[in-house]
Amino acid sequence: MLVTLKDILADARDNHYAVGAFNVIENVMLRTVLETAEAKEAPVIVMGLAADLEGAGWTYIAGLAKLAAEYHNIPVCLHLDHCYDLDYIRQAVDHGFTGVMYDGSSLPFDQNVKMTRAAVDIAHPHGVSVEAELGHVGGSNLAETRHVESVLTEADEVTKFVELTGVDALAVSIGTGHGVYRSTPTLNIERLVELSRAADVPLVMHGGSGTPDDQVKNAVANGITKVNVFTEERMAMFRGLKEAAKLQRVDPLPEDQFGPISRALADLVAEKIELLSSDGRAALTIANS
Ligand SMILES: [Zn+2]
Repeated sequence: MLVTLKDILADARDNHYAVGAFNVIENVMLRTVLETAEAKEAPVIVMGLAADLEGAGWTYIAGLAKLAAEYHNIPVCLHLDHCYDLDYIRQAVDHGFTGVMYDGSSLPFDQNVKMTRAAVDIAHPHGVSVEAELGHVGGSNLAETRHVESVLTEADEVTKFVELTGVDALAVSIGTGHGVYRSTPTLNIERLVELSRAADVPLVMHGGSGTPDDQVKNAVANGITKVNVFTEERMAMFRGLKEAAKLQRVDPLPEDQFGPISRALADLVAEKIELLSSDGRAALTIANS
């Protein structure tokens, strides 16, 4: 069933686990994520970046996700990942997304507040939850043409930010980065504990890919309730793709081509669900939402 970001994260916050948030840009990805989550009885967030939703993507991904969410007996949130333009928030609301992220983390504090508040004013009247970002999770952009340093989130800004914007979830910067890590990250758990105390909304970890498992577990134990994964999905699918490319037949069946990709992705999704302790949580989340 389709649920809001706010509802799916509420149970996670109460029970100290995190919901996996997986980017999906094609049917194979969407189906693999949802089927794996259902097999694990886990609530799950599927999300798209505006760039991947351009053109027919809005209709295809949103249409598929909404239909499939009703078919699967787990809570599913359809979420717009990193968005810098209010027009995309409107698009997402129009297409039935149940969560959106407005990312003003590169803006000065006041500007971030102003724009995030505007996103909340668009989304909330339609029952759509809003995630924002304070501090800045750096790392590589998707094309790997730019690398930006992270700026840790300040606890004293968090309370004020949440109050002024009315957001439902907050992405914080505690030492992770987007893309493939150049060196192993060390999360600032002390800072996370302060942030968790300062915020009365669920906290989100971006750059979940490649962060050592024990550190992710520690972050979840200390207040992270949503963990974004995209880089590791791409790496898993690429392993599957290389496996499929070993086929000798000139006209391999679709299943032989997409199967290895889907299975590699499914293994990763299952692994993440277990790491975040969201397995077996689906029924509880449904009961509480
Ligand atoms: Zn991110």
